[in-house]
Amino acid sequence: MSEKIRSWVTGFARIGEQRELKKVLERYWRGEAAFEEVEDVAKMLRARHWEYQKEAGIDAISVNDFSLYDQVLDMIDMLGLVPSRFADIEDRVERYFAMARGDADHTAMEMTKWFNTNYHYIVPELSAGMEFCVDISKIEKEYKEARELGIDPKINIVGPLTFLGCARRVDVAEGDAFSLYSDILSAYIALFQALGSLDDRIVVQVDEPLLCTDRAAELSLLVKDAFEKICNAAKNLDIYVVTYFDHAKEAVSQLLQTPVKGIGLDFVHGEKNEEVLDLIGRSDKVLVAGVIDGRNIWISDIEKRVSLLERIASAVGKERVVVSTSCSLLHVPYTLKYEKKMDSDIKSWLAYGVEKLDELSILSGLFFEGAESLDAQQALKYAQNRDANEARRSSALVHNPDVKKRMEDIDSMKKKRAPYSERIAKQHEKFNYPPLCTTTIGSFPQTQEVRAARRDYKNGSIGESEYIEKMKGFIKECVEIQERIGLEVLVHGEFERNDMVEYFGEQLEGVAFSENGWVQSYGSRCVKPPIIYGDVSRPKPMTLFWSQYAASLTRLPMKGMLTGPVTILNWSFVRDDQPRSETCYQIALAIRDEVDDLQKGGIKMIQVDEAAFKEGYPLRKEKRPAYERFALESFWIATSVASEDTQIHTHMCYSDFNDIIDTIEAMDADVISIETARSGNTLLKVFKEHGYEKEVGPGVYDIHSPRIPSVEEIEKQIRLLLEVLPARQLWINPDCGLKTRRWEEVVPSLENMVTATKNIRKTL
Ligand code: GLN
Ligand code: ZN
Repeated sequence: MSEKIRSWVTGFARIGEQRELKKVLERYWRGEAAFEEVEDVAKMLRARHWEYQKEAGIDAISVNDFSLYDQVLDMIDMLGLVPSRFADIEDRVERYFAMARGDADHTAMEMTKWFNTNYHYIVPELSAGMEFCVDISKIEKEYKEARELGIDPKINIVGPLTFLGCARRVDVAEGDAFSLYSDILSAYIALFQALGSLDDRIVVQVDEPLLCTDRAAELSLLVKDAFEKICNAAKNLDIYVVTYFDHAKEAVSQLLQTPVKGIGLDFVHGEKNEEVLDLIGRSDKVLVAGVIDGRNIWISDIEKRVSLLERIASAVGKERVVVSTSCSLLHVPYTLKYEKKMDSDIKSWLAYGVEKLDELSILSGLFFEGAESLDAQQALKYAQNRDANEARRSSALVHNPDVKKRMEDIDSMKKKRAPYSERIAKQHEKFNYPPLCTTTIGSFPQTQEVRAARRDYKNGSIGESEYIEKMKGFIKECVEIQERIGLEVLVHGEFERNDMVEYFGEQLEGVAFSENGWVQSYGSRCVKPPIIYGDVSRPKPMTLFWSQYAASLTRLPMKGMLTGPVTILNWSFVRDDQPRSETCYQIALAIRDEVDDLQKGGIKMIQVDEAAFKEGYPLRKEKRPAYERFALESFWIATSVASEDTQIHTHMCYSDFNDIIDTIEAMDADVISIETARSGNTLLKVFKEHGYEKEVGPGVYDIHSPRIPSVEEIEKQIRLLLEVLPARQLWINPDCGLKTRRWEEVVPSLENMVTATKNIRKTL
């Protein structure tokens, strides 16, 4: 690569601008395409994404940021750290996808969130004595492809510390993967040695986001050790250790003591990185400065970014600064090119991956050579950037005076309701539900018919009244089925919703939807997050009509179903021109209005789902209190309007509450349903130990599996729960919504759940 690198892209999206990779992979998995076809598409995509970067004038373009499934799985494969249960699969491609997705004879490897993103990686399964076997043919192939296209690429590698931090030891209970540090490092050293044979001089980007977590402090000695050894593995490699998602202060001082060529820091999400600039300034290291946001979709304020770079340069020296994205562009959609329907003002405020490349190159031009150096097209884009930022600051689309007015009183709504004991007494009196009250989490099967009705209505092939009749039909059937099964608190089934966030987003002002804003979530799965661009408000009730209709069909309590403000926030692209907390409060106001309309309309049990509450926790502990504060306050804003005899439920579909139980308690919901089905009663114990006094519905069976749980099995599960909490405090429900299941599975499962509950009640 040329001596002076000025612009650097940490990594690029790989799913394809029209999700070409997704489509061909899914056809291949269904047996409709040969693997050669997958490879052809992959090659075409790589060429295209390199081309985009080259055209934008980016200096440091990656290979091995591409993956057919996941970059961590690629590392597992390249290091030969394949779990033994896949050893019988000889074909490498078949084995790769079996690890990712499982097959008839092999359970898939576990998948989990990549740091604080919504991307999911495959968790390496490590055991002592595991033998590695390095094979860099994937990288070699991509490297050669790039060279043939006239690109002198850098090579991206998931670093050894991050790899270990993401891994699990499977041979000992609660083993820390870092106990295998030296084995894994040996594998990595062999890998780096192999990389050294690819060319005379090679730039390698070693991704170490783990160094942006609180684990960095305890790992600092390993940082030094690992990178000293890696740098010595092959002398012709220029090693850049790139960190992202927060600051990497602890690691920087260690890295400065190693022969690495450069360090990458995120100045968008790790403001504290500015505190180590002087330290870097006193070294000879190159600083890859992540200043273009790789996690959000707003255009940069280029002028402000230039001043930030100047500040950085005054400590480090311009000649040692490289201008970069804050992280891989994997986390933003590909290109705005296909957004045909979006409001043109809003569109002018957005930069997806391809548009960020232009920003990066304009920014590096301005920073290194000044405005005169921009070509005509860049100069035009720069002017448009200034205009768009200016327009956005004062646009009536963004700023809604009514919302701003309401926000003045927001503090008075950030409060808990009347004392729990008073509320719950009134609620029991009102509803008179039995101990171990049976219910569900909200959604019922989304059949072909249900989806077709929504689709037909959306594309205009059926009118509103026909749509309403169809939905009413589904709801009526669902209510009848629940009554027949003998459930005691009913739901309407959520047939009108395609997605729990999108459904609300579509009805809120200040929220837009893209046509092609897909972001990879895992493997071939992509999500299209709503875009919160302005002050949020709710023009009219969003769920009242359906809930009231459902309630009119039964004498049993009907739960209203809402998605909570924190979950809406965490699953959206959020405006960056005000604190996230402000946006969250505004969403909370909208949900509050809905809660109030529901209770006034006779719906007195209301569930406010916070499926993504935990997911929004910041990486660094130091940022957690602020998050917890506004998340809690938002939940209170949404629910404190409920009168004492209105029962507020919430639902969280995960199981690890240990470190957030205080916050869960402080949310102050009357009833919480959680996912504990797969872990017996261990998780419930956290509630007990904490002295949790409110009602809890620990899922009694796992809805993620098609298996129908037997009566005995559920009885056993309920007995386990009763060892921890008294019957009066427990609800009985599945562990999440039922929308992904089929009626043939749902009905018998719920029947067994009700029978089991009745059997246990008799013994109380
Ligand atoms: N009420 C939602 C449902 O049942 C909750 C979904 C979720 O927790 N992810 O589908
Ligand atoms: Zn759930």
